Amino acid sequence: MSKKNDKMLMIPKIKLGIVIDHIPAGDGVKILEIISRYEEMKDVPITLGINYESKKMGRKDLIKLQIEFLAPEIIQHISIVVPGVTIKAIKNYEVYSKVKVQAPKVIKNLLLCKNPNCITNLEKESDTLFEAVDSASKQVKCAYCERIFDLSELEPIIR
Ligand SMILES: [Zn+2]
Repeated sequence: MSKKNDKMLMIPKIKLGIVIDHIPAGDGVKILEIISRYEEMKDVPITLGINYESKKMGRKDLIKLQIEFLAPEIIQHISIVVPGVTIKAIKNYEVYSKVKVQAPKVIKNLLLCKNPNCITNLEKESDTLFEAVDSASKQVKCAYCERIFDLSELEPIIR
């Protein structure tokens, strides 16, 4: 991390928490929406930064969560809705781990199929499974009805 990057963190540094960085400007609210649907996140203090300057991206959004650990399921959901963000874990005001998250190649039980006749919609409690069609995972194929969808048009399943 360079000093220049530190300057971009204009909202106060946190001692312990999770920062979701490099969110394309305007997509921060989408991630906030996902996070707020999880019961376990309802008491977590959250800061949303919109339209921060970014050398790489021009403008970006940024989210800070005052929580020690973000559940892998939530991270997967974020990676599906807004792929390519960086998730940083902060300890004692320093970044101690960071990972860029991409949409997984196989998405199990995280998205609903949009085909009303798909077996996953006809049978309650059935698993859903999608596989990436292209390398960027922008399109996925339902493993049950074999229809292809844009990843962005599928509704997430929140349990
Ligand atoms: Zn299907």
